Amino acid sequence: MNFSTCKKCNRLITKTFRSICDECIQKEEKNYTLVRDYLIDNPGASVYDVCEGTGVDERDIELLIKSGRLERCGVKCAYKCGMCDTLIETGVVCEKCKQAVSKKVGSIKKEVEKNKPPEPVKPPPEVPKSKDSDGRFHRLAKK
Ligand SMILES: [Zn+2]
Ligand SMILES: [Zn+2]
Repeated sequence: MNFSTCKKCNRLITKTFRSICDECIQKEEKNYTLVRDYLIDNPGASVYDVCEGTGVDERDIELLIKSGRLERCGVKCAYKCGMCDTLIETGVVCEKCKQAVSKKVGSIKKEVEKNKPPEPVKPPPEVPKSKDSDGRFHRLAKK
């Protein structure tokens, strides 16, 4: 029999498809119901409101949001952007941070492009040589 530890409380559990123990699953279910009901009654509430209103740990609420379960049943909860204190309802970071990040990524890309060795010069495509009336090749005039 395989054993592993519960990801939440580190209790030794029999390895199943779940990574947390039965007790934590039950707790999670209870939290989920509490949070969902609170959000149905208080649409647009933030993680902090829910935490205050239900007594569920902020981190557990965030986990519930990130698992997408709340969204699936149509309730949304505002939570903190991963980079600043702005409250957001979807994604990981707020619009502002998203833009800042993509700007940063853009400038990094540019930087990388600048430092890239120049592309190998491709030989010019073959141009069929034309001949003079007297049979000589044309020579490009050099100045
Ligand atoms: Zn557990
Ligand atoms: Zn942000």
